[in-house]
Amino acid sequence: MSTRTTVITGIGSLVTNDPGHGTGPLGLLTDAAVVVDGDRIAWVGPSAQAPAADERFDAAGRALLPGFVDSHAHLVFAGDRTAEFDARMSGQSYSAGGIRTTVAATRAASDEELEANVARFVREAVRQGTTTIECKSGYGLTVEDEARALRVAAKHTPETTYLGAHIVAPEYAEDPAGYVDLVTGEMLDACAPHARWVDVFCEKGAFDGDQARAVLTAGIERGLTPRVHANQLTYGPGVQLAVELGAASADHCTHLADEDVAALAGSATVATLLPGAEFSTRAEYPSGRRLLDAGAVVALSTDCNPGSSFTSSMAFCIAVAVREMGMTPDEAVWAATAGGAHALRRTDVGTVAVGSRADLLLLDAPSHVHLAYRPGVPLTAAVWRAGVREV
Ligand SMILES: [Zn+2]
Repeated sequence: MSTRTTVITGIGSLVTNDPGHGTGPLGLLTDAAVVVDGDRIAWVGPSAQAPAADERFDAAGRALLPGFVDSHAHLVFAGDRTAEFDARMSGQSYSAGGIRTTVAATRAASDEELEANVARFVREAVRQGTTTIECKSGYGLTVEDEARALRVAAKHTPETTYLGAHIVAPEYAEDPAGYVDLVTGEMLDACAPHARWVDVFCEKGAFDGDQARAVLTAGIERGLTPRVHANQLTYGPGVQLAVELGAASADHCTHLADEDVAALAGSATVATLLPGAEFSTRAEYPSGRRLLDAGAVVALSTDCNPGSSFTSSMAFCIAVAVREMGMTPDEAVWAATAGGAHALRRTDVGTVAVGSRADLLLLDAPSHVHLAYRPGVPLTAAVWRAGVREV
């Protein structure tokens, strides 16, 4: 079976995320070329030495980088929470309870409506350069509605996450232990076949450390790998639990004790920062600088959801991370590409290297630094996903 090859020449600045390929942690190459063969990268090197290919694309001096890897998103939902956002921006504080509004709308939605919503948000993300996106359940909170959410998500991404433990379902408000039994029993049985990951919102008003441990442990026993919503609104046990259970990622990491930072730095658990949430709730940002200086691996993701972070823009997250979280442009771009790949334990995405999946973002700019330097400006010139030009 033969595949079409494409050579992208004249790349002014190429982010490979492969230090063996170029300068610095981003493995930067100038005046570079990339050859795509089918869905894979087949060659990376100087433009002047690029081999012939079936098709030729001239980058005209612009910057090329790996497509963004958004490792934390909640896309299976119906309805929206404009009024809640408007009220919050008028002085009210955010609590986890707002999720119930979306749960009611999601349960009431048809399969077709949910399917259309996920397709729309995935398309919206691709248009902005995202080529891998994780997707959680968590707005169904019944056995049937959680399994349905994961079936819908699985049509769009292999990175599906069972988040039955998002909040305690309203029916179990007086019996949270009964809800944890459901999440770790019948609901897990229905969801595990459609999920790669298990997640829990470990937070005051959601699930405490013991409940979170029960949820994650049950998921691990069913072959799912843990990731944790940890230390978002308050200090708590989430990060320590994530590290202890070998979670791929502890997400949010906004309120960290020194021991939490040390635990992350000494582990393979990625610290995934979600600045869209702090932006949209006018909350204090996590410190990317503190985590990086300690030696932790940091990822950036959107947390795209209708309540606390209704953005699918990784470029926006990069700009905020640089302006508000002490990260350099290089660190933020790495976190949004290779960092996300680490958080999903993927070695085939997040880099531009021979054998990597051909997920590429061409910017209407000469450098990746423009992602932070030109906030809010649509810089997507072209996107290839698994070798297919999608934008
Ligand atoms: Zn989340």
